[in-house]
Amino acid sequence: MIKTCYVAGNPVKTDAVREVRSPYDNRLVGTLTLCDHTHLEMAIEAALKGGKKLSRYDRFSILDKTRQLLMERKDLFAQTISAESGLAIREAVYETGRAHDVLLFAAMESLKDDGQIFSCDISPNGKARKIFTLREPVGLAACITPFNHPLNQVIHKLAPALAVGVPVILKPSEKTPLSAVLLTELLYEAGLPHYMLSTLLGPTGEIAEPLVKDPRIDIVSFTGSVAVGKKIAATAGYKKVILELGGNDPLIILEDADMDKAVLLAAEGSFRNSGQRCTAVKRILVHEKIKDAFLEKFLVKAKEYNCGDPADPDTRVGTVIDEGAAIHLEDVVKKAVAQGAKVLSGGKRTGALIEPTVIDNVPRDAEMVMKESFGPLAPILTFKDIDDAIALSNSTSFGLSSGVVTNNMEHAIRFVKELKVGTVNINEVPGYRIESSPFGGIKDSGLGIKEGVIEAMKGFTYVKTFSLPW
Ligand code: NAP
Repeated sequence: MIKTCYVAGNPVKTDAVREVRSPYDNRLVGTLTLCDHTHLEMAIEAALKGGKKLSRYDRFSILDKTRQLLMERKDLFAQTISAESGLAIREAVYETGRAHDVLLFAAMESLKDDGQIFSCDISPNGKARKIFTLREPVGLAACITPFNHPLNQVIHKLAPALAVGVPVILKPSEKTPLSAVLLTELLYEAGLPHYMLSTLLGPTGEIAEPLVKDPRIDIVSFTGSVAVGKKIAATAGYKKVILELGGNDPLIILEDADMDKAVLLAAEGSFRNSGQRCTAVKRILVHEKIKDAFLEKFLVKAKEYNCGDPADPDTRVGTVIDEGAAIHLEDVVKKAVAQGAKVLSGGKRTGALIEPTVIDNVPRDAEMVMKESFGPLAPILTFKDIDDAIALSNSTSFGLSSGVVTNNMEHAIRFVKELKVGTVNINEVPGYRIESSPFGGIKDSGLGIKEGVIEAMKGFTYVKTFSLPW
């Protein structure tokens, strides 16, 4: 696949090329021409110059047409996601379905108003007026996305921005840019005016960093690591910033849990998407009295998550993003073992493939507990009671999401109230959501400003109030 970046619809033709290779077998998946600072300048100028203003119906039609085109080419998208990221093809098919939903919901939402009315004669100090709110699009957005869901991360920024009529300069991950470029082409084909979208890839110092700092950009919407997110927070200057950062989500299994459900959620949460989800289960916290019973079933279940060739429809777990990431995961496991943990299954690495790994007796201060391990690791820790589980869960710097497995409503409510996270899912994996529900974390996982189609649309707008005598 030979692709280019795009400056407002114009293919970028330079000699600088990025080769995208499969993390599984290093075969060439595609090439992409790269941009430099002059392309960034052209993209900003084209977006600010603007063009045809889009009505709500125009925006609906473009998003809906993109959704239809995506479904027509879903195999190409799934194959591209899988090839460039190493994710199993079944995960890539699932991701394409999620992208469909994002487009569907954004198209639907683009038709709706969310204004409020405040009557002013509601106190002795009031008068006969009404105050109304409406939302106006910001001028220009910079969207920067990570590698782990090459299509879904991008669509979760583009669709809400375009739904409210905001032009975007997109900087996808250099590791997985091809899905983003395919989507860019789909949007143009669906009728998106070219000034509304530029997709740029190039050296960080020439594209991403100047983009973040540029005063002509009104909002930076970023999803990625804590380190880069905090750098963006420090350098963006006077503009809106949305940060969706890392996670270290627990699955908390209480004594009364339905064991089969707990086992399934633990495996799905830890191993799906090669464990490379911000909301993957990265710590399994089990009540000490049921740990042995849990492990007996979990080790059997973990065997079902075979890892291998991502293109094989029977593969459940593909590679992680590259060999370096797999080596890092191996190291993290070795460090935990040196602290007394025990690998019960998996753990073997071949290139960028790392087998789903179940690790028992993981100390509470192990790196894989305190930091984010972005891969198919399932560290098991125990707790003695609910106070202990809540304290253990809250003991890291992250606060993205969580899952609690229990049949006791009183306990469930305590966790909802006391976990310091953006989401608590009872009897579900931490990652459960629909594409339009509010999503995002607190503490090091984010600033508490949510995404998800509806909240992200709000993020790309300013609220204006006006009042009238009434
Ligand atoms: P990353 O290294 O932070 O990169 C994310 C994006 O930032 C990439 O496009 C990257 O470009 C760009 N970037 C790098 N340095 C930059 C700088 N100085 N200024 C501006 N942009 C810069 O993250 P990743 O490794 O791709 O993704 C994995 C991380 O994302 C994990 O921590 C995961 O938890 C997090 N994540 C969070 C969520 C959420 O919703 N909370 C969702 C998914 C993933 P290059 O690729 O060109 O370096």
